[in-house]
Amino acid sequence: MKARHQNGRIVDANEIADGDLLKPGPWFCHTPGCPVRYGHHRVASYAVDGSQRVLRSGTFAHGGDRSHLTSCSLNLRAQKQRLLAAHPGVFTSVGDKLLLRWGGPVRKERFSVDPPVRRAATTRETYAAVMEAAIDVTGVIDRSGGDEGVLNAYWVVHRGIRYTWADFCYGSAAASLARLAPSLAQAFNEAATGRPRFVRAQVADAAIETNSNRGRLKLRFRATDTLADGRYVRGWLFGNSVGPAADALRDLRNGDRFCVLGDNWFRFGDIPALNVDNLAQISPMPV
Ligand SMILES: [Zn+2]
Repeated sequence: MKARHQNGRIVDANEIADGDLLKPGPWFCHTPGCPVRYGHHRVASYAVDGSQRVLRSGTFAHGGDRSHLTSCSLNLRAQKQRLLAAHPGVFTSVGDKLLLRWGGPVRKERFSVDPPVRRAATTRETYAAVMEAAIDVTGVIDRSGGDEGVLNAYWVVHRGIRYTWADFCYGSAAASLARLAPSLAQAFNEAATGRPRFVRAQVADAAIETNSNRGRLKLRFRATDTLADGRYVRGWLFGNSVGPAADALRDLRNGDRFCVLGDNWFRFGDIPALNVDNLAQISPMPV
């Protein structure tokens, strides 16, 4: 969680230690123009939960006398109302959570002896609606400075299964995109491979036809920065070399930042990869 010190500096609560000269504040909401003044700062600490040490993040306590601006990403109620109105039919409000819905629950065939019923493909309209909504929520979370309360307010329900926002959204920073490959590790686990994932990245090598598999395109992407040790985090997009999805892949140039949506990510070697077969699976990343 971030806040703005009276001296104008915006800092994350986890960066302020006991004894820091800035600690006493006064502290305000970091959103420009938002009048909320925080009561006090609490430092990050470790708590023991069973056999695990769990980091309790630093935070700024709400002073209580004023509300966040309705345009402030930390005003959860106002953001929820805005998102519900802006994306009709995509979100459902459940308690203090907002659920982004992608596809209905998978129907179980009661009398089928050999069960593999092919899932209906996601339509272009659904991809487009989910993409717009995901970009919107990600913007809210980014503007909040990755506030845990904001992050925990958004969930995804994909074919009846509920996922946290962190399980759904990866990139564009290397530290975030690096979570994608391990999330695909359980190759034979349907819950792992059939999961919906929204990835933000940058084109490393624009689409070219593959040598080994004619009629197919491949595009290499990477995070917008490197890991702390200098390593790159990369991934692949594949697709047919003809058709609307091919045009969407070919439109991406080296260095372009984009978002891509899919529920059939896999590991190509050790690298995350996705077959793109619908043009609405790709969108430019808003700046
Ligand atoms: Zn605010």
